Amino acid sequence: MTATIIDGREVAARIRSEVAREVEAITWRGERAPGLATILVGDDPASAIYVANKRKACAEVGIADFHRPLPADASMAEVVAVIGECNRSAEVSGILLQLPVPEGLDGAALTATIVPEKDVDGLTPISVGRLVQGTPGLRPCTPLGVIELLDSYDVALEGAEAVVVGRSDLVGKPVSFLLLQRNATVTICHSRTRDLAGVCSRADVLVAAVGSPGLIGAEHVKPGAVVIDVGINRTDDGLRGDVDFEAAVGRARLITPVPGGVGPMTIAMLLRNTVAAYSLQRG
Ligand code: NAD
Repeated sequence: MTATIIDGREVAARIRSEVAREVEAITWRGERAPGLATILVGDDPASAIYVANKRKACAEVGIADFHRPLPADASMAEVVAVIGECNRSAEVSGILLQLPVPEGLDGAALTATIVPEKDVDGLTPISVGRLVQGTPGLRPCTPLGVIELLDSYDVALEGAEAVVVGRSDLVGKPVSFLLLQRNATVTICHSRTRDLAGVCSRADVLVAAVGSPGLIGAEHVKPGAVVIDVGINRTDDGLRGDVDFEAAVGRARLITPVPGGVGPMTIAMLLRNTVAAYSLQRG
């Protein structure tokens, strides 16, 4: 068997154009366009690139850009004040605090000051609580992107054995709860899991979010499984995922490549979340 390759770029492009049409419809009605505030503290080059990409994507779909750069030596109080301004601004629909923040600042405590209605990263304690309870709310972007890819390729989740490798607050835990909400039977693996290959090889849907290049090999993949690789690892051979693609592609039914799989979905879902936040605020 050779797996069908899931084309994340194509799915992300469709979502971006859907969002662009929604924004157009909003402004056509005479309403103000949804707006995203990006708060970048310090000058970490990777964070600067991520934020620039998010702002460019917003501009492309007509979402208003409210960029709030702060110096690396900004105090907690200064960052909280900027988040507070964004919380109160009628023009700002979504707030994104780029993580990690510089040493000396508490990223989790800062994130918690974002009002849940504008929490487009879905990382505040209230948004996480809503996710766990399965009540409406904004969900984290990369996990949403994983579910969108599965839906786009008509992967049946109800009753499926889903195994998630990784238990981070950013990816592993939220994607597990999204799968649970879709009635999959979910197992979460992590660095202390015994017999990782044994557990993974039960999975109809295997999601790898570890940060360890090529960790998931042929022995982890049940024949006919759907394999979603969230990992993005910079190696001497270029970008690699957590899945040994060459080994897994011969056993899986569907598989995401790296790059071009989950990666493009994150920003697309951020755009969608920003419009969802706008609608939430309008009731
Ligand atoms: P993290 O470091 O916060 O979490 C990694 C998790 O993997 C931990 O829960 C740990 O227990 C588990 N783990 C570590 N070694 C393991 C092992 N040998 N066996 C089983 N589990 C193990 O990482 P993260 O933020 O969740 O990111 C994971 C990967 O996804 C990274 O490569 C990151 O770059 C990537 N990522 C991609 C996107 C995207 O847009 N595609 C977004 C976020 C993260």
